[in-house]
Amino acid sequence: MEKNALETDIQFLPGVGPKRAALLRKELNVNTVGDLIKIYPFRYIDRSRIIMIKDAAPDMAYIQIKAEVAEINLYGPKGTGIDAADIKFNTVKRMGVKVTDGTGYMEMVFFKGIKWMHSKLKPGESYVFFGKPSIFNGHLNMVHPEVDSIPDSRTDGSRKEGFMNSSMTGVYPGTERLRNGGITGKVMNRLMENALTMALPYIEETLPKYLMIEKGLVPVHFAVRNIHFPKDTAALEKAKYRLKFEELFYLQLSLLKQKYIRRRNDNGIRMPKVGEAFNICYSSLPFSLTGAQKRVITEIRDDMKSGHQMNRLLQGDVGSGKTMVAVLTALIAVGNGFQACIMAPTEVLAQQHFKNISGYLSGTGVRTALLTGSTKASERRGIHEGLEDGSIGIIVGTHALFEDNVIFRNLGLAIIDEQHRFGVEQRARLWRKSSCGLDPHVLVMTATPIPRTLAMTLYGDLDVSVIDELPPGRKPIQTIAASESKRFALYRFMKDQIRLGRQIFVVYPLIFESEKLDYRNLETGYEQIVQAFPYPPYRTAIVHGKQSNEEKKFNMDAFAAGRADILVATSVIEVGVDVPNASVMVIESAERFGLSQLHQLRGRVGRGSEKSYCILMTGHKLSKDSKHRIDLMCATENGFELAEEDMKMRGPGDLEGTQQSGLPVELNIASLARDGLILNDARQCAQNVLDKDPSLSQPENRLLAEEIGKDKYKIRDYSRIS
Ligand code: ADP
Ligand code: MG
Repeated sequence: MEKNALETDIQFLPGVGPKRAALLRKELNVNTVGDLIKIYPFRYIDRSRIIMIKDAAPDMAYIQIKAEVAEINLYGPKGTGIDAADIKFNTVKRMGVKVTDGTGYMEMVFFKGIKWMHSKLKPGESYVFFGKPSIFNGHLNMVHPEVDSIPDSRTDGSRKEGFMNSSMTGVYPGTERLRNGGITGKVMNRLMENALTMALPYIEETLPKYLMIEKGLVPVHFAVRNIHFPKDTAALEKAKYRLKFEELFYLQLSLLKQKYIRRRNDNGIRMPKVGEAFNICYSSLPFSLTGAQKRVITEIRDDMKSGHQMNRLLQGDVGSGKTMVAVLTALIAVGNGFQACIMAPTEVLAQQHFKNISGYLSGTGVRTALLTGSTKASERRGIHEGLEDGSIGIIVGTHALFEDNVIFRNLGLAIIDEQHRFGVEQRARLWRKSSCGLDPHVLVMTATPIPRTLAMTLYGDLDVSVIDELPPGRKPIQTIAASESKRFALYRFMKDQIRLGRQIFVVYPLIFESEKLDYRNLETGYEQIVQAFPYPPYRTAIVHGKQSNEEKKFNMDAFAAGRADILVATSVIEVGVDVPNASVMVIESAERFGLSQLHQLRGRVGRGSEKSYCILMTGHKLSKDSKHRIDLMCATENGFELAEEDMKMRGPGDLEGTQQSGLPVELNIASLARDGLILNDARQCAQNVLDKDPSLSQPENRLLAEEIGKDKYKIRDYSRIS
């Protein structure tokens, strides 16, 4: 058989060779011709559209002008002119290139890469400049434009028909190293042309014909050709749409397929009743459940009695009452004769859960226990026995539950709080603990609001319940941004609040790359607070990740019990701590936190009946993004809104809750932040396909089965990972 050109080593693509191949490998992770073709332009320059300088204005987006270099000026550190004859480029701070197209003048400004650009630009010659026009000192300029020779000057009669018959030129992701190694934008275009000539015939259609017709999608050859060398804007749009749809469709198909497989297996533990303990607990609640809590509990009950294994994600903002839902869910398991475990990511949280849950359970007669790393050996033995003989109905714990000598009699339900902090393998170890041979039901709870498109992807194979309503009587939290100059006012305000009997959190950022420095910030901050709030009468506690568990617990308990007025803490230990009397959250260096994290921290206050405040302390000079984040925090308390915005600003990869779990499949062209509509459509379409052919065994779905059988779709399965 003829060799598939897509698999050809990139080194053997005409125009590459060993040196450039090494660069492409290192910089773009391109090993084969096929890999290269998957690198898509991130922008296109419309070569047919040139703006006259007289028509250019600073409010325009990126424009292209065609102009002759009139004058090149080099400036030293103090803005003094330097003579080009005796320049040392390391002393040149700025290069100004005055250009004209006959209708006016414009200055091109460079602060970096001056040496290279200086050697490229020749006075008297014309170039195409591409960039964003702006105004400086009343003159129009462009900072760091892209510079190209005039395309026409390359027309030497040998210009090929075909791919290059395109009015738009793709701009590929490039790096300084690629450019220094001779792989400039133009070279990239030529390599792509060679790659397509060689390998396009080997690219096979990946979507069944009926789907392409139904969705109006262009064939893969058309799409690949036009994503690199668009015939026109319409063709480019069609190409992009097809490629994005395909990417999102396959991702959703693979996720939904797992869900369908699970549905078909009747390996769920049937839990037909709610049981007595549930009813006792329910009727003795000090409040009535919110509508959202009731709805979610109904959804969970339906799962648990269905005979299928439950795999449900419960999303709800901080304070929305997820713990209550967890307790009632655990009681359903107990009421049907099974054990339940509730896993928390930290010791502090596990203790807190245990305390709250024990409160709700008093009177139900259900035996409950807490197992963490610091549980004493003597106590531990009793707990192990209770789990093994089934006398413990509900166990709350941390990673300690994973230890090998923890054996359940019949685990029927696992509730995982703040799921993303648990590793995949750890969860797998938990499932293996179910000795009754059936898969336990799984409820994953997260307080991190996740944008809908991201949830569909991260948890695409889970059913999702949302608590979108807070318990009544919550007062809005007033959020205020302040800079260092307001510190005295802040301390005065804090003292007033303490006098009113309130407690205060002061949180410092902890960013792992400079851990030492972070702890120094924390210590300095602590000293500052202790100085401003001396004992007596003020009492300050401190909690951070470097303390022993006893120290942490001691300080946390002191704060929770009201023996401390101020708790100084790092951001890593904060999640889930519930101190209703704490009504002020001060976040230091707030600009260093992401939106979701700020929102999480803010959720620590506003849990009691008092008016609460969140003070965002920031440095003086904020980047545009930081300022935007801080402004948004002051403007809204809606976690989902903030999460959507966070994703738009930072992309899905950096969002809270995704760093550790990661997206199941890396997206090459589609964006969860921008392509929500296509994602919806693709998911619906995948669902329709699976409804008709759940095992994808029909001949018309052969391509689909083949594609999702590939390694990259081997997505983790929350229900049984092993
Ligand atoms: P989450 O875990 O979602 O952050 P919690 O379950 O800790 O929220 O609930 C926060 C507080 O609200 C707790 O003090 C809890 O007792 C209270 N709470 C929960 N549900 C209700 C309700 N329906 N009505 C009034 N208060 C509630
Ligand atoms: Mg909670």
